[in-house]
Amino acid sequence: MATLGNPQNTIEVLKKYGFNFQKKFGQNFLIDAHILENIMDAAQVGSDDFVLEIGPGIGTMTQYLCERAREVVSVEIDKNLIPILEDTLSPYDNVTVINEDILKLDLAQLAKEKNGGEPIKVVANLPYYITTPIIMGLFESNVPLKSITIMVQKEVADRMQVGPGTKDYGALSLAVQYYAKPQINMIVSANCFMPKPNVDSAVITLHRYEKPPVEVKDEKLLFRLIRASFNQRRKTLQNGINNSPELSISKGQVVEALEKMGLPATVRGESLTLEQFATLANLLG
Ligand code: SAM
Repeated sequence: MATLGNPQNTIEVLKKYGFNFQKKFGQNFLIDAHILENIMDAAQVGSDDFVLEIGPGIGTMTQYLCERAREVVSVEIDKNLIPILEDTLSPYDNVTVINEDILKLDLAQLAKEKNGGEPIKVVANLPYYITTPIIMGLFESNVPLKSITIMVQKEVADRMQVGPGTKDYGALSLAVQYYAKPQINMIVSANCFMPKPNVDSAVITLHRYEKPPVEVKDEKLLFRLIRASFNQRRKTLQNGINNSPELSISKGQVVEALEKMGLPATVRGESLTLEQFATLANLLG
């Protein structure tokens, strides 16, 4: 089996199996060896690493991972890709393919079974329609993580690393920055994929913190407050929180907390830092 990561060999495999791309699964396969090498470098995949790959497609990036990592587990939802993966990954004995929806797998259990509960690396060219649930699922599932290196839409990568005062700032920025230090490694042109997506992409590494950078008594409350503030972005924080079905906090309580923080009663969530959200959660908790 020839090495993938270029247009000719990709087309050959697709033809051999009569594979039709499924838009609903966000299938855009990488066809650029240079980008694939760069992703391996960004993720610093080494011979000690256990890597979870989400969405191997025809196994392009999986081949690169198998060459460098100790062990690879790849989770692919599309059953039509499974016979292809058996073929393209046949030279490797350090890979397991699981035909499952990544959002339905118990990842903490998987890390326990396959890696003795030691921290794993996640490396993936993500299906863009579920980027946020995948990232949040990884952080919230208590799976022990070293880092997550993922290809996402460029705009989503921007959202993950900005602070208050920019239009991209939102619940995703705060959630990611609570759990990890984001670092954009490179911007990737739509031409590096087959079929070509409508947007440019970026590779971002999220380096998991051992301890979050802010201290909160009640993590759940912090995230409820964040969601409430950005669900109704144009509303003031006191209205957003008061309207949230997940919270029963009055406008008066919010205003009182804001006063203690030296913030005006009319402030909007989009101007608060992660530290300020943490203080607010501790005052309201
Ligand atoms: N890794 C390949 C590459 O770089 O060429 C393919 C990446 S493609 C952007 C995303 C892959 O994720 C597709 O193979 C798609 O079928 C798979 N996928 C989509 N939704 C999924 C889900 N819920 N669970 C697991 N895999 C999924």
